[in-house]
Amino acid sequence: MEILCPAKVNLFLHVTGKRPDDYHTLLSLMCNIDIWDRVTLRFGTGSMRVICTDPDVPEDQTNLAYRAAERFMCQLGDQHGVKREGADITIDKQIPVAAGLGGGSSNAAAVLCGLNRRYGNPFNRQELLALALEIGADVPFFIFGKAAIATGIGERLVSFSNLRPYYVVLIYPGIRISTAEVYKKLDIGLTKYKKEPKEIRLEDQVYDAALHLCNDLESVVFSSFPEIVDAKNTLLEHGAVGALLSGSGSSVFGLFEDMTAAQDAKRSLDNNAAWKLFSPQLIMDGGCRIQEH
Ligand code: ATP
Repeated sequence: MEILCPAKVNLFLHVTGKRPDDYHTLLSLMCNIDIWDRVTLRFGTGSMRVICTDPDVPEDQTNLAYRAAERFMCQLGDQHGVKREGADITIDKQIPVAAGLGGGSSNAAAVLCGLNRRYGNPFNRQELLALALEIGADVPFFIFGKAAIATGIGERLVSFSNLRPYYVVLIYPGIRISTAEVYKKLDIGLTKYKKEPKEIRLEDQVYDAALHLCNDLESVVFSSFPEIVDAKNTLLEHGAVGALLSGSGSSVFGLFEDMTAAQDAKRSLDNNAAWKLFSPQLIMDGGCRIQEH
């Protein structure tokens, strides 16, 4: 079984508070983009194993795809009495790692969806979303499979489709950022960051890059990585109507209203050897794509 799983960007990300268990609560508009990892599942291999084309990704039990597979098999045994089966999970990694694009979470969601298909959908959508949340706060979004406003720690998802067809240019500046470190620094930098994002009642509004682009993690990341500030400014200088850090970085993306301007920007930025450039489309509807052989 082959599963294509997308990356995501956060079109806004407000940190709204912190729960007693130390998880931060968010208000974020998340949207898939068409940069894809390919996850292949081969069954009948005895044990569970992960192989990844990117040497920066762990192949042990800490891999999110591995954890998703283990959690799924365990729940399948407990709830449906199905005998545990192993699998080889091969990840052809195209999504930059530790770049705020959700690659690991997307891989985990792909494995949950793929295994659910293999066993004849033993878990309904709610059950699958609950399993996903046990793996990570961003995993439910990739099961949800549509642009969505996420609240809670990312598990409360409401679909959102009022988005104009922006053209995207995304810069991966070749830097890996630990999400946990960014949140730790946010805690140190701010004693009180409970805010009321009154302006973000977006249900009936059209998302407008000029008004709504915002990422509360930018200040933390920008203070440590001036080269990421440069990347953002460069996108603005090249005609983006807005530009933003995705998630906890390191990727930044620019939104363009004009296709030619986006193409021109990508072309002229391509000669920076430290950067990897993408021009992905925003995917409003659709997540993992399963192909069975
Ligand atoms: P986060 O979800 O923490 O915001 P991110 O989107 O910035 O992460 P990922 O590419 O998901 O970045 O990687 C975060 C870290 O997770 C990596 O440093 C890597 O060590 C670990 N990891 C575990 N499993 C995977 C996986 N399948 N793909 C990528 N990274 C993984």
